[in-house]
Parts: sequence; structure tokens; C-alpha cells
Amino acid sequence: MKRPKLSVVVPCYNEEACLEMLHGRISAAAQAAVGSDYEIVLINDGSRDASWKVMQRLSEGDPRLVAINLSRNHGHQLALTAGLDLCAGDEILIIDADLQDPPELLTDMRAAMKSQGADVVYAVRRKRDGETIFKKITAAFFYRMLDRITDTPIPLDTGDFRLMTRRALDAFLSLPEQARFIRGMVAWIGFKQVPFPYDRHERHAGESKYPLGKMIRFALDAITGFSTAPLRFASHVGLLLTGASALLVLYILIGWLFGAAIPGWTSLMLVVVVLGAVQMFVLGMIGEYLGRLYVESKRRPLYLVADVAGPVLGHASLGY
Ligand code: UDP
Ligand code: MG
Repeated sequence: MKRPKLSVVVPCYNEEACLEMLHGRISAAAQAAVGSDYEIVLINDGSRDASWKVMQRLSEGDPRLVAINLSRNHGHQLALTAGLDLCAGDEILIIDADLQDPPELLTDMRAAMKSQGADVVYAVRRKRDGETIFKKITAAFFYRMLDRITDTPIPLDTGDFRLMTRRALDAFLSLPEQARFIRGMVAWIGFKQVPFPYDRHERHAGESKYPLGKMIRFALDAITGFSTAPLRFASHVGLLLTGASALLVLYILIGWLFGAAIPGWTSLMLVVVVLGAVQMFVLGMIGEYLGRLYVESKRRPLYLVADVAGPVLGHASLGY
């Protein structure tokens, strides 16, 4: 199989308004970087707008464009996985469809890769334009918290926008997990990985496809996928409560010995409420892990492909 020098992989969900511009800018950037030896892999993640139609039309006019239509919305990380499975390039650029990450940085990222002998060049957000204060604060907090509790050092303020070599990608593709936090998984594989600072732009069109619910799920996948600290926390809380209850038993016994009648409703309720809350919380945390264990154990395919437009050079079968 002849590999193109470069694959650009883009997960797309309801991005009809961005696709044309995206295609133009990526094509120009790729052409400037490697000449015509590249492919663009667009993954339609079950969009409900006209994204797939637009992709088909674009692929008719461009032999370097491969469009993949997933059977339904599988979520950003799985859509991206599909693209990474099916792309064929020697170097792989991952980029979002909304042009928040400028494709024009490709040339500089390749230069960084070459000059530093790196396998992964990951783009670090210096600035995030056009995003809500809420998103900026939660994201900043999230990456710092994750850094504290995980054993794998995952770079701060880094999305999936990155350039990888084929050997790094193949290493990444050997990780089979269902709950995928791709930026963490890439950090886990090791090899030489170097940061590339950049300013994140505003979305070209449309709105964020990451509402709060998806953000929380994404964060939970990251935490449970890369750390067992919450489980350890559960046992620490258990230990602490055991100590506290020993003191309480002592206190009750002394009260009983000296015949002090305890009115005690307030303290009783406090203990019931606090213990109940802590137990529920800890159970919930254990449940998060258990649920993921269950999903893993089913060993379902990560995604299913419905249609392909354009040539698929990649080695993987279509996810089945
Ligand atoms: N995306 C996707 N499937 C989804 C949600 C998002 O493929 O279920 C894509 C989306 O089209 C975009 C990328 O993932 O290319 C990042 O999403 P978005 O820009 O909405 O996230 P944000 O930048 O707001 O964090
Ligand atoms: Mg975006």
C-alpha cells in the first residue's frame, strides 16, 4: 500500500457551515506543507444537518478527500478514532472541524517535529478566543485537577489538535479501550512529545457541540481512564469515618456510663445525613468504574461505518 505523506483527520458533527471553508484551508495548508501527497479524512459523526451531503459533494471534486459516514452519532472521541483507524498517512494531523485550530500551523508544526526529532507535536492553547468564561474556567480547572490525580503526565491546556508520526499513531491504535480520552492516551504511549504553543480562535460558524452534559462525561472518562485516585479517596474517607465513629462510640458510652440523658436529635440527624451523603457519593464513584468495566467487557466495536465517499487507503477494516 502506498501511504500519502500526510493525513488530516477531522471529526465533524453538525458542521455544514464550516466544511467548505475547512476543506479549502486544509487543502491549501497541506499543499504548502507536503505538495499534493496528502489525504483529508472527514468523519461525519451522525450529523443531523446537511454535513454528509456537503462532504459527498466536496469529495466528488477532490480525489484527496475521503469522507466517512458513521452509522450514528458516536461522540467526538470515537469519531476521531474512526478517522485515525482509517487514515493511511505517514504523518497525521488531528484538527477540529470548526477552524478554532488554524490548519496553517501545519508547516511550523512539521518543522518542530523535524527539528526536535519528535513523534508527537501537541498544540497547547495560549489563548482561547470566543469561548465562554465558564468554559475557560472549567477547562483550566479540569486540566490542573487531572494533572494532580493521574499517574500519566497529561499536558495542560492541550486538545486533540496535534501532529503525529505513523509509529506513534500505530502505538495509539493498539489501545483498545471503549471510554476514550484520546489526548491522555496519546500522552500514555510515550515517545518524544513536544508542545507547540498557539492561540485558539473563535469558531468559524455554528456553536459548540460540547454542552455541559458531554463535558462532564468527557471529564469522567478522563479521570476514570487515567486514575484510580477516586477509588483510593473512597477508602481514605472510609478510614476517616471509621476513626470518627470510634470516637463517637466512646462519647456515647461515656454518656451512658454517667447517665447523662442526651436529647441528641440534632447530632443524630447530622450523623445520619452526613454518613448517608458520603456513602452515596462513594458508591456513585465506585459505580462509575464498575459501569465502565461493564461497557469494556461487552467488547463492542468502537464505531460502525455506514458509507464511504472517496478512496479509503487505510489498513483497518471499516470498524467491524
Ligand atoms: N464533534 C463530533 N461529535 C460529537 C461532538 C463534536 O465529531 O458528538 C466534533 C465537532 O464537530 C468538532 C470537534 O468534535 O470538530 C470539537 O467539537 P467542538 O468544537 O464543538 O468542541 P469545543 O471546541 O467547543 O470544545
Ligand atoms: Mg470547537
